Amino acid sequence: MNKNDSEYIAGILNKELGYEILWEGKPEDVDLVFVNTCFVRGKVKNKVYSIIGKLEHIKRQKRHFIIGVGGCMAQVDKDRLLKDKPTVDFVIGTSNLYKIGEVVSEVKSEGNRRDFVEEEFKDFPQGLPIYRETGVNAWVTIIRGCNNFCTYCIVPYTRGREISRSPEDILKEVDNIVKEGYKEVTLLGQNVNSYGHDLKRDIDFTGLLEEVASRYPDIWINFITSHPKDFNDKLIDVISKFKNITRYIHLPVQSGSNKVLKRMNRGYSRERYIELAQKIKEKIPGVSLSTDVMVGFPGESEENFKDTLDLFEKIRFDSAFTFIYSDRKGTASYNFRDKIPEDIKKRRIKELIALQNKITEEINKTYVGKRMEVLIEGKPARAKSDKEFQGRSKNNKIVIVEGDFHIGDRIFVEITELLGWTFRGKPIF
Ligand code: SAH
Ligand code: SF4
Repeated sequence: MNKNDSEYIAGILNKELGYEILWEGKPEDVDLVFVNTCFVRGKVKNKVYSIIGKLEHIKRQKRHFIIGVGGCMAQVDKDRLLKDKPTVDFVIGTSNLYKIGEVVSEVKSEGNRRDFVEEEFKDFPQGLPIYRETGVNAWVTIIRGCNNFCTYCIVPYTRGREISRSPEDILKEVDNIVKEGYKEVTLLGQNVNSYGHDLKRDIDFTGLLEEVASRYPDIWINFITSHPKDFNDKLIDVISKFKNITRYIHLPVQSGSNKVLKRMNRGYSRERYIELAQKIKEKIPGVSLSTDVMVGFPGESEENFKDTLDLFEKIRFDSAFTFIYSDRKGTASYNFRDKIPEDIKKRRIKELIALQNKITEEINKTYVGKRMEVLIEGKPARAKSDKEFQGRSKNNKIVIVEGDFHIGDRIFVEITELLGWTFRGKPIF
């Protein structure tokens, strides 16, 4: 989500103000640095303050150098950021990102330092320019904000209520993406499954997905993130009907304990989640499932944690993003009294990661000798030759192949070897 927001910010800076965009490089060589922040990970604050600290010497050398900070963490910490970091020129809120052109112009002409953190989006901004970072896959935000208020989560407070983008604006952007040669589109939202409920039109997420998938049969269509409480049978049917919808579903479970799920306000039970995951696996052959999970939520007993381990054994996810619960001021669980000591949280996450690693390895081993379609995305980090390429399968496995390929090619491979979490494959012609 934040990465896609950065692409919109870069689009506006590039197309409205003429800035050339560098995603990487030396800050000494540029006129403006924008630091986009996410508040989901625990230690982000220190990191952001340290990045800004490292830019201070440039500000002293170049009078016109501009430092802007945006995203959820900046929004929450705006007063302290502007007070403690006099080199920061502006802080912009998640709902104001489309105003970055005006904000930068104001900073340049009037030299004001201030925050531009205002009300929530009332309408989804239409036709925003975009400057994409990725080569083969293009992200398209279809819904902003979140209405779910999971008790641990800051997102509904920093990103506001759900607001869906019009199907016309989405399809226009996807048309452009396809014309520009991208091979894969990822529809994005905190909970894509609730797309459309606020539009007062006859469209929901399943309808949108079906429309995009049937309009572009040669493009792979992905979506992230799904909420288990809103993932219905109709959606499973659409995924299984369209071969170009990828076989990779990210379905955050958060906990395997009914008591914890209830206190998290997730809106589903462990039984309902297991039933859903099993149905997905059964109806969509070859699907890979990943999840987000948290340990050490307030009140999580040893038995509750064991329920999470047990759920992991039952479902056998392909991979999992594991989080240690940490307090976010302003959320409901911040005020829960029964916090779990750090050493217990650390022990639990280690145990859960070890279990997931074992499952991932067992699942991955079953792929050796199998055939899969792979989209060539680029070069591996340590390519052994010019002919070595890295791609991703329809169910999100990273595969290294050798041959005369081009980025964006789709090829069939036979998996010959497991290399840790990735695979080596041999092209099949
Ligand atoms: N909208 C998505 C995910 C949003 S945040 C969803 O509903 O699943 C990404 C992940 O960060 C969450 O799934 C959760 O596992 C983790 N997370 C969010 N708040 C957290 C907190 N306070 N402490 C630890 N992990 C957290
Ligand atoms: Fe946060 Fe829950 Fe919304 Fe995901 S669904 S963004 S975890 S409140």
